[in-house]
Amino acid sequence: MLSQRAIEIRSHIPLLDLKASYESLRVALMDAADSVFQSGVYINGPQVAALEQEMAAFLNVPYAIGVASGTDALLLTLDALGIGAGDEVITTPYTFFATAEAISRLGAVPIFVDVDPDTCLMDVNRIEERITDRTKAIIPVHLFGQTVDMNHLEEIALKYGLSIIEDACQALGASFEGKKAGSMGKAGCFSFFPTKNLGGFGDGGMVVTHDPDLALKLQRLRVHGSNPKYYHAMLGYNSRLDELQAALLRVKLTKLEEWTSVRQAKAAYYMEALSELPIQLPKVMPYGEHGFHLFVIETDARQELMSYMAEHGIDTGIYYPVPLHLQEVYRPLGYKPHDLPHAERAASRAMAIPLYPELTDDEQHYIVDTIYTFYKRKEMSL
Ligand SMILES: *Cc1c(COP(=O)(O)O)cnc(C)c1O
Repeated sequence: MLSQRAIEIRSHIPLLDLKASYESLRVALMDAADSVFQSGVYINGPQVAALEQEMAAFLNVPYAIGVASGTDALLLTLDALGIGAGDEVITTPYTFFATAEAISRLGAVPIFVDVDPDTCLMDVNRIEERITDRTKAIIPVHLFGQTVDMNHLEEIALKYGLSIIEDACQALGASFEGKKAGSMGKAGCFSFFPTKNLGGFGDGGMVVTHDPDLALKLQRLRVHGSNPKYYHAMLGYNSRLDELQAALLRVKLTKLEEWTSVRQAKAAYYMEALSELPIQLPKVMPYGEHGFHLFVIETDARQELMSYMAEHGIDTGIYYPVPLHLQEVYRPLGYKPHDLPHAERAASRAMAIPLYPELTDDEQHYIVDTIYTFYKRKEMSL
């Protein structure tokens, strides 16, 4: 017989369980928060510096700069590289809006290239045809925790003298040929939004780079362009990572690798258990380690399956319902439906099912059973 707790869990399985994550580290997190409160230092203090060092060590890069969000990580990086009005930046239409928003905020134009239909990652083979003399950078997005093929991308960037800015917001801990996501481009941008693989208790972000000049510029940009304080040679932002968030993130960072392995094991179970069904499973490329930020499947019966799972207490989510080239705000860019068919098809079929370190085996079996039952009933009704 199932215990009361197991039954309670089964009455509702969230897409992500942040409360369970907190419970698992509660005492250490409370201690870390208390020490910050007691220190009286709340902005850009020793906790931020320590997290920057630990992230730099984890990613094997010399510089890490904490900022207020993943969006700001992208925005400040593009700004620091001098990208602005009249420039073009090549990226994917199948990502969170912030990737393109950062480009547009600076007056530059996002150029969207279609995705590979199997991985939903930017199709690296379509980049070259979109390069013009206004192209300044490429932003690959390591979607759902899997990196883009960086070798091919680096060749293109080198050939045309473009900067690669990795949007690694979903891929902290993932790797490509042994190199960590975010550590390969001119800069790597990370988010500590609560739902990310290393999630804080509020907003936060970080940029990492090998370039000392870029690092210095970012350190200034985040504090109103000042250096030293009250001396401004440039316009900047107010974009700091909170000392409190940094202290909490340092506690969670010690668990990241373990959590990533658990995510990978749970993803492997889904892959095996769902392989017989008429759904498209994530394609895991052999070139790296997938961080499985999200486990996204594709099906023509998305709406039906999502409703059926909801009726059975399982949350699912759509990442992403509208590809960026078809967003209302980008209508002036002139894209039309069918322009980027693979991204559009994915947007109409993709759905994420629960995957997080605290998801129990029982819950995962129940999710798989529910999906099986859905397809069995569907077959019988045909
Ligand atoms: C979350 C995310 C961002 C933005 O990060 P915030 O911290 O929410 O600003 C940017 N790009 C991608 C791919 C993301 O997943």
